[in-house]
Amino acid sequence: MEMVVLTGAGMSAESGIPTFRGAGGLWEGHRVEDVASPEAWRHDPQLVLDFYNARRRHLLTCEPNEGHRILAKWSQRISVQIVTQNVDDLHERAGSPHILHLHGELMKARSLSPEGETSVMKTWEMTLRDRCPFGFPVRPDIVWFGESVPMMDVALELVQRTSCLLVIGTSLQVYPAAQLAHAAPDHAEVIVIDPAAEELSVHNARMMGMKASEGLQILDREWFG
Ligand code: NAD
Repeated sequence: MEMVVLTGAGMSAESGIPTFRGAGGLWEGHRVEDVASPEAWRHDPQLVLDFYNARRRHLLTCEPNEGHRILAKWSQRISVQIVTQNVDDLHERAGSPHILHLHGELMKARSLSPEGETSVMKTWEMTLRDRCPFGFPVRPDIVWFGESVPMMDVALELVQRTSCLLVIGTSLQVYPAAQLAHAAPDHAEVIVIDPAAEELSVHNARMMGMKASEGLQILDREWFG
């Protein structure tokens, strides 16, 4: 079997990382436009850095949950390609080998050089004084609202040729990522795991209205006994 797993903020909820929509459209008390957009970066870069520094600092206290671990375990037996909207590194830390981050990575800095090289951060803190090895300033390696999603075409191709698509913990409100949930071929098995599954509309999908770890434990028993 060969599978693509599209994950969103709900995948990491059981690790103690709050979802975005869960807080009434606010992200940790902020309007996304104020902290996660190119305009915010131009207008108040320190506020943006403070926001992401806090997210990074919190992430270092979080651990992968049972759901992350089940997906990593499956990848030892079948091909599992994770396509995540999450910026945390919990799929990596659980041991999943194939992960595509649609919206960037919290633990990476991106150079403001024309090439935009990225580097793994050694601490939770990014400051306005930080420079890349070539002397350029850096920014969080996050795809902000209003920016294009460079990995979207690659992700779309993966979904379009899969035989099984799992959609876990995403409200499917953020585009273009949300269109991936509808892009699997007609013959593919599509499964949605989300406590709010009844609010989502995904064509021909098996809807599992429960938490990520619960749904994945059920599938683990069904598929691998
Ligand atoms: P969202 O917050 O819009 O939706 C979260 C979804 O997860 C909801 O449908 C909710 O019902 C579901 N959910 C809640 N608890 C769950 C659980 N235990 N198991 C399974 N599902 C659960 O998230 P989104 O669709 O990913 O969009 C938010 C955007 O904000 C993304 O682009 C993402 O980059 C960013 N974000 C990332 C993180 C992270 O990296 N962990 C956290 C918050 C927001």
